Amino acid sequence: AKSANPNSISKVRVVVRVRPFLPREIAAGNGDQTPRNECYRLDSFFAQEDNNVGRIFSREVCPLIPGLFHGCNATVFAYGATGSGKTYTMQGTDEMPGLMPLAMSKILSMCQSTGSSVELSYYEVYMDRCYDLLEIKAKEITVLDDKDGQIHLRGLSRVPVKSLSEFYEAFSCGIQRRKTAHTGLNDVSSRSHGVLVIAVSTPHDDGSGDFVTGKLNLIDLAGNEDNRRTFNEGIRLQESAKINQSLFALSNVIYALNNNLSRVPYRESKLTRILQDSLGGMSQALMITCLNPGEYQESVHTVSLAARSRHI
Ligand code: ADP
Ligand code: MG
Repeated sequence: AKSANPNSISKVRVVVRVRPFLPREIAAGNGDQTPRNECYRLDSFFAQEDNNVGRIFSREVCPLIPGLFHGCNATVFAYGATGSGKTYTMQGTDEMPGLMPLAMSKILSMCQSTGSSVELSYYEVYMDRCYDLLEIKAKEITVLDDKDGQIHLRGLSRVPVKSLSEFYEAFSCGIQRRKTAHTGLNDVSSRSHGVLVIAVSTPHDDGSGDFVTGKLNLIDLAGNEDNRRTFNEGIRLQESAKINQSLFALSNVIYALNNNLSRVPYRESKLTRILQDSLGGMSQALMITCLNPGEYQESVHTVSLAARSRHI
């Protein structure tokens, strides 16, 4: 993969992050594979390192934050197959916080000078249904669009957050719930889209008491699956079909935005419908394509879909 001409403006940036081989993969001898060369046009490329999340944050995500304080929305997606590093990138670990806590921390520090307040929501989209992850019992929420095209998630909880510890308290509970929220089964999290929303409300400086709200959506997408390679049956096959359909709809929306098509097909899936007010228009978006270095065919499949959505 190579980086594109920095002068070419694409409205949804598409970048790649390749994770390093894991100790167990190296132990199994998988680290010795010789890389093959393929060429794709993307906006930026982050090579196999475990500790480059800070650089991804400062180069790619930080620039989206000031707009939130002026009422603009932004969206960051982690896209890729299961095991490619999406959750590691977005959520991270205690030792290596991901983009979600890094964004929260940066936003909270900026709130001090602007007098803004922050509210957190966290939900998942599974089989085209939305579930609130900040409620004790994961509750289904309904998506409504009003006359002027605004999207409302009815019943979605919004938790005020004033400090990073308050954030972690709510976020950790949500992560636990995401594992079992809708099925009661363990770890279906990689088969749902996890959406964390940080809403920033900033008072107008004219003293009128009015304020503007900007939303940052941070999304750990469900793992995309190459149906030529998986052998799913029953509910797994239905899930897989829904996942691929919604990821395809997302890629069509990004393609339409990046190529100035007059019709942007937001209504083709629940996910793109929900994100309608946060993709396109004044909103900024970033897609981080995650790759597993040991899965060559899978990576080619993922990156070619990512490059396809980026540009003509
Ligand atoms: P996904 O969410 O895409 O299914 P994960 O984020 O769970 O994938 O990552 C799969 C495994 O790889 C996990 O054990 C994770 O800790 C590890 N991993 C992912 N990305 C990195 C990275 N950049 N550096 C080190 N380990 C990583
Ligand atoms: Mg994951």
